[in-house]
Amino acid sequence: MTLIHAHIDRHAAERPTAPALRDSQGIAFDWAGYKAASEAAATLLKDHGVQPGDRVMAVAENSAALAALVFGTSRIGARLVPVNARMTAPEIARIAGHCRPRLTVFATDASPEARAHAAGAQVMQTSYGEIALTTDPGARFEAPDDTAVILYTTGTTGDPKGVMLTHGNLNFAGRASATLRGMVPGERLYGALPLTHVFGLASMLTAGAVAGAEVQLEARFAPDKLLAALQGGATVLPAVPQMHAVLMAHTAAQGIERLRGAALRYVSSGAAPLDPAWKRKAEAFYGLPLQNGYGMTETTAGVCATRNAIGDPDTSVGPPLPGCEIRIAAPDRDGIGEIETRGPHVMKGYYRLPELTAEALDPEGWLKTGDLGRIDDAGRLHIVGRKKELIIRSGFNVHPPEVEAALNDHLDVVQCAVIGRARNGNEDVLAFVQPARGGVDPAALADFARERLSAYKRPSAIFVVDALPAASTGKILKHRLLTTFADRIA
Ligand code: ATP
Ligand code: MG
Repeated sequence: MTLIHAHIDRHAAERPTAPALRDSQGIAFDWAGYKAASEAAATLLKDHGVQPGDRVMAVAENSAALAALVFGTSRIGARLVPVNARMTAPEIARIAGHCRPRLTVFATDASPEARAHAAGAQVMQTSYGEIALTTDPGARFEAPDDTAVILYTTGTTGDPKGVMLTHGNLNFAGRASATLRGMVPGERLYGALPLTHVFGLASMLTAGAVAGAEVQLEARFAPDKLLAALQGGATVLPAVPQMHAVLMAHTAAQGIERLRGAALRYVSSGAAPLDPAWKRKAEAFYGLPLQNGYGMTETTAGVCATRNAIGDPDTSVGPPLPGCEIRIAAPDRDGIGEIETRGPHVMKGYYRLPELTAEALDPEGWLKTGDLGRIDDAGRLHIVGRKKELIIRSGFNVHPPEVEAALNDHLDVVQCAVIGRARNGNEDVLAFVQPARGGVDPAALADFARERLSAYKRPSAIFVVDALPAASTGKILKHRLLTTFADRIA
């Protein structure tokens, strides 16, 4: 079994002084420095009693410290549980209560939130930045296995679940991303996706380590910083659709229509539905095709990805990545059913949830994704929506992404989220809309929807809100909408 830190060691031998990683606090490593930092992290873990099989929780935002911990934990056969510092203390406590870490490391440099969580912990200066530690000598012993990380899901549809990903999963996913993008040593990937989420961990950090490309970590996504990175030599940009949408709004407000003189050569969107209107706008801005990738925590990020040319009207998520299989279970007459996938990208299981694991993974290795889709004649997958978010209104199926796409088409809409609400034995369609700077008139938006959507798909109510509840990736947390805006929803 190749462990994930082997990639760092290989580049440290082959190109020790080439740039490997830098973070937004100003810490930078070449490959030899990256190796040394991960070795120092491994020593620190061992010195604090971490044994193979133990869980090490890292409460962090994107930082050199977190990257050093990812590969340092690998060196001693422990399991890293990266948790975003922007989560609340009770959310972090719930995860800690579930995974029982021997050691918790706080990367305090990255943000005030990270520092606040570390109150009372022992602060240390290291070669990879300031960290703080707490230990739990009573943490349960578990036999070591090939699990590299336990990643908790976004919690879009409910409580986050701990997904066990192996070294093999990460090696496969890192290589698949690097190959898909044609990544080479010496180029620079701009990394604003959180490393605490699978897209950041697998398709940014691990892909960079596999390819020998430099990863420029950003602790806090902000459109002006992204723009500066693009103007400053970044060549590869993986992002979620919300990041592209926010960048487009930012550049439009500044009167910048096109990105000029940049080295960018590959830009992608993943982790949430990509709106066709955003895709068009983004392609015009970047002057590059915006590739769409589909995946989930349970599949170490990638399952499918497009390989389109600019302006391609393709709204699919492309064919499966080489080595990954997909199929549609129990398709209806339109060919729509639950997407299942099998291959080296599929998780080992949910941590300490054997029943949920047995429900999700069949004995032949097929994973039920919980997403609905269809496969077209060209073998491309089309995502229709999530099984759990399907709205059944007067007997008709309403898929929220279709309604969201119609509203997002309006020029005054930055982003929106559509959910169902049970009422009098039926379901209502509720839309929550974040407007552009000048605001949006809900009545005008309702008229706009009337021209685009058949009656049963039209929102019963449109709520214009300042901001939508979002995870650290920018993904909208739909299950929080009803509680967040309870006072507005009569
Ligand atoms: P939870 O499982 O806790 O409810 P989550 O499913 O949002 O949260 P993630 O693993 O971060 O947690 O997200 C994976 C999901 O995101 C997929 O199952 C799918 O619904 C959605 N998704 C990912 N990529 C795309 C894409 N390109 N287009 C549409 N949807 C996507
Ligand atoms: Mg999920």
